[in-house]
Amino acid sequence: MTLSFVSARGEKLLAPSPYIRLLQEATGTTITPSARDAITYSRVSAVPLRPGRIKDYDKGKMPEDTVREARMDYALCPMKYLLSYVLEKYPVYQSDFQMQYALNALISAISHLMEEQGMKEDEAYEAVMALFPWMRRAQKRQVYDYISHDLDGHDLDYGNRTECGGRYYTDERLKLHYPNQDVRTEVNTRYGRLNTPDGRKGLDLYEAPERQDACSFCPHVAYCRNARYVGDQESYYD
Ligand code: SF4
Repeated sequence: MTLSFVSARGEKLLAPSPYIRLLQEATGTTITPSARDAITYSRVSAVPLRPGRIKDYDKGKMPEDTVREARMDYALCPMKYLLSYVLEKYPVYQSDFQMQYALNALISAISHLMEEQGMKEDEAYEAVMALFPWMRRAQKRQVYDYISHDLDGHDLDYGNRTECGGRYYTDERLKLHYPNQDVRTEVNTRYGRLNTPDGRKGLDLYEAPERQDACSFCPHVAYCRNARYVGDQESYYD
């Protein structure tokens, strides 16, 4: 194995980092001075290409306790699954737009649960909005519109719960992960297919989701290479 470091930037000479020094001491090797200009284009282009030594992703090896929303992300967009649950422990929203939508979905979920307990729609709305006294009137209106659209009878059935770590969590929480109703329907269908021959098996990290609105509500849209409209998010949201 060869480790290298930048030893000169312009005319300025740079020392090896403490880590390189530690490795050098631990292995008893010496640092070979760089031979400037030794790495030429022709030297690089002459290196023979070899096939990548990367194994295909094996869905069967996904940990058994992987939470449902992570599996749903895998079914919807492999890159979203990788960025949210493989490289991080959970997804993190990064923009006000996404946070507001996630909040709308949260309020809708609480409101829906209260309705299931027998409360009327407007009563449930008033009770939940009382939990967010700082909200401006325009934001409340947005929440009201969101809830009305969300409960128009075409949404999924959230009567089920998911068990995780000995506790049960309402499936209403999935609204926070997929605030857009059409995306929820799509991801639910794909999730259902995972246990069938039609379900996803591999992990193509160049795949862009078929539904373009999956990207607009995705926490990774600002830096994901597969994101649709990545350079023009604001006008897309408009
Ligand atoms: S921005 Fe789009 S392509 Fe990228 S991870 Fe999110 S959903 Fe997938």
